[in-house]
Amino acid sequence: MFDKAVFPRDKVCGDALPGRVVKKLTAIDPAYAEALRKFPRKNTTRYTRLIYGNREICMEWVLDAYTCSRMEFDNFLLDLVRTHTQTTLYLGSAITGIRREGDYFLISCEDEKTYRCRMVVGADGANSIVARSVAGKVVDRAHRAVSVRAYYSGLTGFDTDSLYVYLDPRFMPSYLWVFPLAPGLANVGMGMHATQLQKKQVNLRAHFQEFLHADLLKDKFKNAVPARSQEGFSLPLASDTRPVSGDGYLLLGDAASLVDPVTGEGIGNAMCSGHLAAQTIMSCFQQKNFSAAKTCEYDKALKARIGKELHTHHLLQRLLTRMPWLFGMAFFFCSIPFVQRLIKKLF
Ligand SMILES: Cc1cc2nc3c(=O)[nH]c(=O)nc-3n(C[C@H](O)[C@H](O)[C@H](O)COP(=O)(O)OP(=O)(O)OC[C@H]3O[C@@H](n4cnc5c(N)ncnc54)[C@H](O)[C@@H]3O)c2cc1C
Repeated sequence: MFDKAVFPRDKVCGDALPGRVVKKLTAIDPAYAEALRKFPRKNTTRYTRLIYGNREICMEWVLDAYTCSRMEFDNFLLDLVRTHTQTTLYLGSAITGIRREGDYFLISCEDEKTYRCRMVVGADGANSIVARSVAGKVVDRAHRAVSVRAYYSGLTGFDTDSLYVYLDPRFMPSYLWVFPLAPGLANVGMGMHATQLQKKQVNLRAHFQEFLHADLLKDKFKNAVPARSQEGFSLPLASDTRPVSGDGYLLLGDAASLVDPVTGEGIGNAMCSGHLAAQTIMSCFQQKNFSAAKTCEYDKALKARIGKELHTHHLLQRLLTRMPWLFGMAFFFCSIPFVQRLIKKLF
């Protein structure tokens, strides 16, 4: 396993670990989920609060969910790999090129060494070199969201057991999140679809600051101290349904564009793709068959597991982006308990 970073390392994220993360860890090995439950450097969340003007919808989740900085969480995952597997880790080793040679791939690293492998698995994020050079995927703005995030301390009025998502008609169709990590400390960010950003010529960083100083939030942020500078990054949305496998390769997580188009969550889906990919990889080696006809079993399994849900969320995202006034109506309907129960099931 190669990673260009040396761990622990940061990753621009909202740091919310949805219930699917614990569910996936449990499916891989219940001991891993138990280790996360015991992991002290995380915060337990129970509610998501959607706030639109003076209306609030509070959803209580059934599954365990957490917030945890990616510096801590990704290092926790890597420790599981170190402790429970015999994986050879090449950290601080950026892949600079991948090319085909007969049945094999030749992987070039920053240190100028070259490695040869039969299968390549691209779990290398939103700007995946595997997706670009092996799968020939070019970035498509129609399937990207853009986000900025920062950490703030000195916040007041946020419960650590809740994730806060703010919507304001003036800033539509963007949304702002405040995900508490500890009392007074939160990951705060703003996201918007890339095509809307371009169409409306929005400066997301300026928009973000404006939102923090708007009536909804200004009191809670009046003593806020930025703990680090703002950082921006893109999210490859699952509305991109191009194949995620081919002759000798598989793409996972952000490299496969698996971020939920409504919630912006991608960690749970990335883990789900990892679990399914492992099953296909084992089968490829057992049968010594690495052809596209074989690896597409992974595409099919992924589609069967999360395809329908992601498709529904894509349709919902398109609808809300085109008709943002629907939020007002949606908030009215969502205050009905039956609808709240339905939403819990959908997400
Ligand atoms: C602002 C923002 C907020 C978000 N908030 C949330 C949230 O709250 N909850 C949630 O579930 N999801 C969230 N997401 C989405 C989530 O961050 C991603 O979906 C998730 O990290 C995908 O995991 P991954 O393993 O596919 O990619 P990554 O986490 O990006 O990991 C890719 C790895 O590949 C390595 N790498 C990249 N290129 C190379 C190379 N050339 N050679 C070697 N190594 C390489 C990187 O160093 C990195 O370690 C957010 C995303 C953004 C941008």
